[in-house]
Amino acid sequence: MPQKLYDFFQTPSIQTPTAGANIAGFIDGKNFKYYESSSAKLPAVVNALQAKAKSNKATIYTNSLEALWIKHYPLIKVKHMDTLKSAEGDGAVEVTPVVQVTKKWPRRLGAMALAAPLTGGGLYAAAAGLSKDLDLPAGSREKGLARALRYYMLAAYSLVDISSEESYEGLKNYVGALLVSDQGKILAAGINTGSYRHAEVSMLLSYFRDNPTATAIPERSIIFSTLTPCRGCTGYLSAARSTDSVIYFGQEDTGKDGKVGARISAQLSAKTKEPHGQSRDALPGSVDVDDVGGDGVVSGGSISSIHKIQVDKGLASCMGEGSIATQIGKAQESRALIRSSSDALIQKMLKSRQGGDDEHAVKEAVLRYIGQWLGTSKSLE
Ligand SMILES: [Zn+2]
Repeated sequence: MPQKLYDFFQTPSIQTPTAGANIAGFIDGKNFKYYESSSAKLPAVVNALQAKAKSNKATIYTNSLEALWIKHYPLIKVKHMDTLKSAEGDGAVEVTPVVQVTKKWPRRLGAMALAAPLTGGGLYAAAAGLSKDLDLPAGSREKGLARALRYYMLAAYSLVDISSEESYEGLKNYVGALLVSDQGKILAAGINTGSYRHAEVSMLLSYFRDNPTATAIPERSIIFSTLTPCRGCTGYLSAARSTDSVIYFGQEDTGKDGKVGARISAQLSAKTKEPHGQSRDALPGSVDVDDVGGDGVVSGGSISSIHKIQVDKGLASCMGEGSIATQIGKAQESRALIRSSSDALIQKMLKSRQGGDDEHAVKEAVLRYIGQWLGTSKSLE
């Protein structure tokens, strides 16, 4: 039965959904095609957008305030049901609601299942409390863990040539992101393929797709993004973050959106650190909801922190000076280059190893793991 779009959104179960339940859809001819989701972290609006990804022209309507981080991506129109009016505009359009059962997902990156490299954990502690690398005692496990953080960032960089292959034409920024556990296991990966599918979003969607009952990323996890998260990504990261997770980025986005994202990320942080771990004063914990992605996106007093990390100079210079994120994306060989660099580092370490101290053991385990992960990773439906 056709009804006004406004009236459809007045349905009690849509007006007052149970925890996590949300819907999103778009007008297609005389139909309102919509998706349902039972997870606020993996909102139906993603399915609706993905269904319309080719054109990017549809307006998506949703009952989920928490999904509104998406509205900060260019070309995307997302409207919350409260903006619909009964007698005018799209709210007055007569439609037949049709629930969509076949869900659409962005492509994701996957790799062969591998055992975590750091059985004793410790990567989170290294990331959260990042001591100045140089100050750590040579040969210590802590020193190895501090170096391991850079290797994961390099792994994130090495994803960006996939990004350049799979992106829509005209995409300028190639970005990679990894979600890594305290034990060093890569839990999810993402690349920027355009519009709302930024690397961090692709990474989170991939994680929630693999873990449909999860309501947040795991405690003590570390996010590595090659670029400062933008405001849309920051919105989703803040919606999906755990109490103690850490964000690392490799390169500052000096554009307008990157600056906004950096500011919000800083506000989200209880502690923000400069490169090499020099602490700055704590920043306010409050976040302006208008900046982040809609009412309700940021709530509670969860604490996370954001840090910049510098990749090894030698490797960075191989990728070209200037804007690494752009240059590396144009270099199809960057992935192979990082893999061979990892191999070279392993060989060097094996040669110089004298009885094998804790620092070397950590570096070797992590480099082997990353090498295997990169070697088997591929883009999946
Ligand atoms: Zn983004």
